[in-house]
Amino acid sequence: MEQTFIILKPSTITRSLVGDVITRFQRKGLIISGIKMMQLNEEILREHYAHLVDRPFFPTLLKSMMATPVIVMVLKGKDVVPVVRAMVGATNCRAAAPGTIRGDFGMSGQENIVHASDSPENAAIEIARFFKPEEIFDYEPLTMPAIYAPDEL
Ligand code: UDP
Ligand code: MG
Repeated sequence: MEQTFIILKPSTITRSLVGDVITRFQRKGLIISGIKMMQLNEEILREHYAHLVDRPFFPTLLKSMMATPVIVMVLKGKDVVPVVRAMVGATNCRAAAPGTIRGDFGMSGQENIVHASDSPENAAIEIARFFKPEEIFDYEPLTMPAIYAPDEL
């Protein structure tokens, strides 16, 4: 089953929304395969946001992502990358649809609650960047037969 990579950004820690965001993923039926708190630094952020380093807002983004520790997660589920991107919503919280995480919890384009991988290929790269193999647990919760039909597992 597929995996995706999530960051609960510093604004989410600061605003005490950690539980609300994680609850949404759990209620959906996604499995937490890895979770930890860490302090991001410029080196890892320059890798993670390599596609944005030349943008004018990059210094502000860097500062924002280092403002407090973050919570990083690996979530598991069928088609989990597109499922989670749909749950997260558009990059700018003001444009994100109501019912999405960004649409319901934020007002900013930068302070937009979570990062979520945009493709299975990037998910694999990001998981390897932020987690050691032994920090990811590939267990099968007893709830699985209630979440998926046999031919979906
Ligand atoms: N970002 C920003 N201004 C922009 C575009 C992006 O501050 O105009 C920030 C925002 O926090 C976003 C992150 O840079 O989540 C990564 O941008 P990306 O285009 O990858 O958006 P995402 O995949 O997070 O929706
Ligand atoms: Mg992105």
